[in-house]
Amino acid sequence: MLVAFDFDQTISVVHLYHLMRKDETTELDSYSNEFLKREVFGGEARLKLLAEHFHHLIANGATLCIISFGFTLVIIEALRRVNLIDFFSRQFILGIDSPLMQEVRGYKDVALVAVMKHLGIDDATSVIFVDDDVRNVEAVEANIPSCYTLLIQPPVGMTSDHLREIEDRAATRRAQIQPH
Ligand SMILES: [Mg+2]
Repeated sequence: MLVAFDFDQTISVVHLYHLMRKDETTELDSYSNEFLKREVFGGEARLKLLAEHFHHLIANGATLCIISFGFTLVIIEALRRVNLIDFFSRQFILGIDSPLMQEVRGYKDVALVAVMKHLGIDDATSVIFVDDDVRNVEAVEANIPSCYTLLIQPPVGMTSDHLREIEDRAATRRAQIQPH
């Protein structure tokens, strides 16, 4: 099982990249943890839900991945500051400046296929793609038809309903793949 999340307006509630307008973490340093938690991630309660969600998916055997048009180090630093970084392996935090995203010229669907290949996943029914941009969702639907996609609308971050849908879908797919 692989769950690939967008970062901006999916994990975060705002567009951090637009908020910063710089490809460095220095501006992020000027934000207090309180501001980050409240304004960028939607507050402590939402952060707790996200942590529980990521923990739940990993406990059920999922690998988590971030495929983003934001900058890798900014995403890593933002996640570190709000204690979500440990749910993600660094190699699967793919910002627009990551070697893989450079290689695939920013096509998220192609990046997702590369991550699947890296993990030895050839059946996309065990893959979930989550993004607030319909263009990315449509590209994945067109090129990886059996992948389950979830469009986050309005683009203000995943809600508890979205998290539940992902968990339900992950459980269903897992049951199909590993019948008991
Ligand atoms: Mg986004």
